Amino acid sequence: MRQSLANEINDLIERGRDRQLRLAVTGLSRSGKTAFLTSLVNQLRHAGLEARLDLLPAAREGRLLGAKRIAQKDLDVPRFPYDEALAALDGTPPRWPEPTRGISELRLAIRYRPARRGLFSNNTRELSLDLFDYPGEWLLDLPLLQHDYLSWSQSQTFAHSPERRALFADWLTAIENLDPAAEADESRLADIAALYAKGLGHAREAGFSNLQPGRFLLPGDLEGAPVLQFFPLPAVAQSDRTVLESLPESSIYQTLVRRYDHYLQRIVKPFYRNHFRHFDRQIVLVDVLGALNAGPERFEDLSRALGTLMQSFAYGQRHLLSRLFSPRIDRLAIAATKADHVTPEQHGNLVTLLEALLAEPLRDLHFADIPVKALSLASIRATQPQSVTQDGRQLPALRGTTLDGEPSLLFPGDVPPQLPDATFWQRQGFAFRAFRPLPRNNGVLPHIRLDTALDWLLGDKLQ
Ligand code: GDP
Repeated sequence: MRQSLANEINDLIERGRDRQLRLAVTGLSRSGKTAFLTSLVNQLRHAGLEARLDLLPAAREGRLLGAKRIAQKDLDVPRFPYDEALAALDGTPPRWPEPTRGISELRLAIRYRPARRGLFSNNTRELSLDLFDYPGEWLLDLPLLQHDYLSWSQSQTFAHSPERRALFADWLTAIENLDPAAEADESRLADIAALYAKGLGHAREAGFSNLQPGRFLLPGDLEGAPVLQFFPLPAVAQSDRTVLESLPESSIYQTLVRRYDHYLQRIVKPFYRNHFRHFDRQIVLVDVLGALNAGPERFEDLSRALGTLMQSFAYGQRHLLSRLFSPRIDRLAIAATKADHVTPEQHGNLVTLLEALLAEPLRDLHFADIPVKALSLASIRATQPQSVTQDGRQLPALRGTTLDGEPSLLFPGDVPPQLPDATFWQRQGFAFRAFRPLPRNNGVLPHIRLDTALDWLLGDKLQ
């Protein structure tokens, strides 16, 4: 009896501890964050009723009673536009929701019956789940904290990539004859910074991911603010440091240094301090298939960007973030999104390819002892698998409706199980099209393995 009382008391303490979870969703632009969060909320709203969540034990065992949106705690974080997203998906024809462009939040109260009922436990429990969505681009700024303006400038080299140089051509011309010692002219600096931001925008449109600073791509409410009006000076050399540092405050160089420092202190650090530090769990979404479709240079660029992005999670005691404050993410999922772009027998390859792409960061996470799960999923399906007969053989294919409304049946190609080699790119064996989202079925968005992600991210809290 005593033992069971002790167990009960432990249980109560656990309950207190488990009542709240802050789960963050990130990924680079168009990786599928908006679709993921919309579907996640939709599935949990319909949990225990119409939603298909068999891979989440609490749902499979009939213990999950559903979820309700409640008022969020952080009043200064915009609300995730769930209703707007659903309205787009419910349109005729269904449309993909507008992507979010900054941080947003939504709070759910999830009601469930515990797996083991005890003396003091009433029948149901509640977990409040705070969901955050923020751009992965913001995490690309972490390395900036290790640089001062001069060393950052030097790390921004354009020499190795003619294509990148072409994308930044206007900005490169503008800084060609810029003398760092000259008197700063506000409007000229603003113009050059705008050309730099334009270059970043072009690079992103061209499919590049490894781009800094992150807020230049997604400025949110900082659009046009002087803090975003700086740019690197790749031509300055470390050997000029003493000379540069003794330039007057009003020089171009010193003005750029001040803005760079301001960016770090007022934008990069506060994100980590005010938001990132409070996340309990994190899912990182990766559009592996999109990069595979875009060719070798973009694919490698994605790999570099992910290497940088993941540095924010693999903190050990000596990590930069741990020195600034103590982050607490104790579990991580990485997911290859839009799995419905390939036929189901390719999904295994998609996961091994994701793991290969993230091999380095995964090793760091292992070393930092942070549990991580890699998976592939489709938040909102746009295709149905179908088998077709060709020359007497059964072949897997996908059926969907293109964004222009054309019905289409295709085999998009094989996903390489490892990092693709030159022969893969020569064959150009992968073609992928954007399809319209499938409509809701009984109120529920059709998905693939969103329940696996949910199980990893919050299944233990629903025990
Ligand atoms: P975000 O910028 O990270 O918020 O990305 P979104 O969620 O807006 O997704 C970008 C685009 O990817 C969408 O407009 C869709 O075209 C596509 N997409 C996202 N999720 C899925 C999915 O599960 N399946 C398919 N087929 N396409 C998806």
